[in-house]
Amino acid sequence: MERDTVPHVVILPLPLLGHVKPMLTLAELLCDAGFLITFVNSDYNHDRLERVMDIPAFYNRSPGFRFVSISDGLPIDQPRLGPIIFQLFFNTRTVSKPLFRELLISLRQSTERSPPTCIIADGLMCFAIDVAEELGVPIITFPTHGSHGMWTIMHTSNLIEEGEVPFQEESDMDKPITSIPGMESLLRRRDLPGNCRLEVENPLMEFIISEASAMKRASTLILNTFEELEAPIIAHLSSFFDKVYTIGPLHALLKTRIKDSSQSVSSYGSLKKEDSSCMEWLNSKPLKSVIYVSFGSVVELSRDQLIEFWHGLVNSRKPFLWVVRPGLVEGNEELGQISEELEQGTKEKGYMVSWAPQEEILAHPSVGGFLTHSGWNSTLESIFEGVPMICWPQVADQQVNGRCVSNLWRVGFDMKDTCDRFIIEKIVRDLMEDKREEIIRSTNEIARMARGSVKENGSSYCNLERLIEDLRLMSL
Ligand code: UDP
Repeated sequence: MERDTVPHVVILPLPLLGHVKPMLTLAELLCDAGFLITFVNSDYNHDRLERVMDIPAFYNRSPGFRFVSISDGLPIDQPRLGPIIFQLFFNTRTVSKPLFRELLISLRQSTERSPPTCIIADGLMCFAIDVAEELGVPIITFPTHGSHGMWTIMHTSNLIEEGEVPFQEESDMDKPITSIPGMESLLRRRDLPGNCRLEVENPLMEFIISEASAMKRASTLILNTFEELEAPIIAHLSSFFDKVYTIGPLHALLKTRIKDSSQSVSSYGSLKKEDSSCMEWLNSKPLKSVIYVSFGSVVELSRDQLIEFWHGLVNSRKPFLWVVRPGLVEGNEELGQISEELEQGTKEKGYMVSWAPQEEILAHPSVGGFLTHSGWNSTLESIFEGVPMICWPQVADQQVNGRCVSNLWRVGFDMKDTCDRFIIEKIVRDLMEDKREEIIRSTNEIARMARGSVKENGSSYCNLERLIEDLRLMSL
């Protein structure tokens, strides 16, 4: 292939871990296909990545890959936690947009690498569509949610027009949602994204509505899901976009296509140092006996909620492995004393880490259940490994994911809007023992479909091939 026909893809995630990780995985798969990649990190995330990864060594192995970074508008030493995360969203338009435009212009003028032939931008970074249109570079949108979450978010303004949003009264919570085609018999108001509980006129709602509407201007959509899981909603999405590529679960597709994925850049995608000591603890536990507990990288708990979970877990008498990361408890960047107290009381049945090798844990034979906040990456990782879930969703698409897990795919139970030690104890016992029969058959069946989708000739495998081919054609 001539140098000037090598596809050069610029990849722009929202600068939050749950978005960076799948985007890095996609970047790596495209680099493996021989493409040039420019991955645009925020300065903050790049700084974190440099702490956990030897980037020059990675460039030696993958000469087509380059990181660049731009400011996200927040001070580099400020933890991205709590309400500050909303500021990150708003900064994308004021701070990141002009920086991204400058970056793209300089990439076009560079004599070192051929000019960008396509941009793949996060579904919440739609300013990139304006820049791409202005500079005449094709753009693809990649919202890192599942299809059900994405389809719901796209209907935010319909929900408002139909008076289904906002809602606040507890008595309204179980009313069925009727204004999202294809999801009429699935969602209740409490299953809508967390922002639907806010007053309509607030900056977050405005941001979500305008991003959802702008996203449709990118005629092509990439989704980290697989056809067999969400086919009816993918069909709905296909009526809005000329092309839709479902290529998930991406973390598993990477392992199929890149044999030595232990050195992969996406294994550093969580931008944090993992504590692998728990693997030895897991090795000592019986088959499918352990419940793994993690609420992802962003969700915060109150101190009372943390204590309720702890009592519920301890009282269930099941061994548990719990990620208690700094920042998990509101206002506690360092957990300090709370963590010590909990650790003391945990010794008999549990194990705590501040950050875990989650994919490895879910694949471990001792793990029999996952108590999760229902972030999309965690949901997919659990589905792929056939680990049934207890869902405790809090924000964004998590509420929708939790509902799909419990009432559509039947691969777990949803305990949204409750946090009581007795409920937690019972639901853990239900998942691990008493009601396991109800969900284990569908959990295994869906895991089998997930595995099939990333195998050679599987749906996601073939869709990635199609995407690679189409990206090549764009560069000619
Ligand atoms: N994760 C991890 N170690 C942990 C907790 C989470 O590696 O201790 C990873 C997890 O495997 C997943 C990601 O962090 O890929 C979290 O993404 P998700 O979409 O589930 O949630 P978010 O953090 O965006 O809320």
